[in-house]
Amino acid sequence: MKIKKTIIKQSEHAIARDNISNNALKVLYRLKEAGYQAYLVGGGVRDLLLDKKPKDFDVATDAHPDEIKALFRNCRLIGRRFRLAHILFGRDVIEVATFRGPHEGGASTHAGKNDEGRIIRDNVYGSLEEDAIRRDFTVNALYYNIRDDSIVDFTGGMQDLYNKVLRMIGDVPVRYREDPVRMLRAVRFAAKLDFKIEPQAHALIFELKDLLEGIPVARLFDETIKLFQGGYGLRCFQLLREYELFEGLFPLTDALINSSGQQRSRTLKIIEQALINTDERIAQGKSVNPAFFMAVLLWYPMQDYKNRFIERGQHEIEALISASREVITRQQAHTSIPKRFSMMMRDIWHMQNQLQHPTRKRALRTLTNKRFRAGYDFLLLRESVGEHELKTICDWWTDIQTQSPEEQEQMCSQLGRGQKKRKRRKKKRVVKLTLEPAAEQQHDPEP
Ligand code: ATP
Ligand code: MG
Repeated sequence: MKIKKTIIKQSEHAIARDNISNNALKVLYRLKEAGYQAYLVGGGVRDLLLDKKPKDFDVATDAHPDEIKALFRNCRLIGRRFRLAHILFGRDVIEVATFRGPHEGGASTHAGKNDEGRIIRDNVYGSLEEDAIRRDFTVNALYYNIRDDSIVDFTGGMQDLYNKVLRMIGDVPVRYREDPVRMLRAVRFAAKLDFKIEPQAHALIFELKDLLEGIPVARLFDETIKLFQGGYGLRCFQLLREYELFEGLFPLTDALINSSGQQRSRTLKIIEQALINTDERIAQGKSVNPAFFMAVLLWYPMQDYKNRFIERGQHEIEALISASREVITRQQAHTSIPKRFSMMMRDIWHMQNQLQHPTRKRALRTLTNKRFRAGYDFLLLRESVGEHELKTICDWWTDIQTQSPEEQEQMCSQLGRGQKKRKRRKKKRVVKLTLEPAAEQQHDPEP
């Protein structure tokens, strides 16, 4: 790739200061006034040029992290692999990165790659130009200069933006090996921007996708959330499957999607429907919960395990609890699931039973459960993708929410008394289940 510095003057591009958030401007001004270089870069510039609303604003500067910290009281330094400053304005965070330079040969405590060529540390500082060529895609390497409102382009990003092409900067296989997450980023940007991935970068994903196995699961979880909850979730899901990247992230779900029969279509449908709803909510500025979507992704795999446990003699509720644990543990080998989310996933799943079989005693309590809304939405989603036997009970829960407290009592008093005790007595568990720990098992979700 030829590196040629092009400057696009203020009068020749469409970004106005008014489009940039006040907080980002404050950071840029403060850096500039202190004598540093300060540029807006990345998604902020790219999305403004495409007339989209940026998700966040990233700043690049020649100030070093300690110098940035000295300038801003509301600054936190984060990251080891890639040291960054976060300038905090309440919930809004402006990310400020010091220009990165190339790794010189030899061992260093500031930069390093592992045996597979993956960057494990990236804290060598450099010039603006060096910073540009270390970014991932040309359209992500456009710099808006706060000094004169021009845009600096070293890699032909403006042309690619115009042509709707996602082009990796530099040697594609080297750049994928340095950071395999760039494959997921390629898919995410292709979905979000409706861009084509340049042919070599496209083809190499199929070849190099297994490198993602070496990425820490916590980072993969973060990427997964960006993919599915960035407002273009459905398209990302379709592209992840096209590029055969989904199987590495969610092997249990992928295996079901590739199986035959009812579970296949339901698994696909429930994911697609949840993503349609998520994308719609995000477009309306509403919040979305990662736990709900993770519960959707793993619901049918969990059902498979539950059935397997029941066949082995476990009681329904017990099987549900074991299967939830099993599926979450297995998934955590691929993407971590922070505890607050895994707890909510379990709550949503476990509540399905209470929702499907409300009893006189428990129904009102279920209604006031703090997870009721999520559990109820989940039930409706299941019904909408083919679990039509849930229709009557869905209607009952929809109905009860609109009633007065007296009428709610009345509705509950017409319910049965629950069969838990009777069933327990009848079906005493004979076989004690013994399963190897999930992590040591093969990933074979077929019962
Ligand atoms: P968005 O914020 O809309 O998801 P973005 O392009 O701003 O997209 P960020 O993850 O916020 O993406 O990163 C900001 C910028 O940092 C990117 O535009 C890119 O220039 C650079 N960058 C981020 N991650 C990588 C990476 N893994 N490899 C190389 N450059 C990266
Ligand atoms: Mg960004």
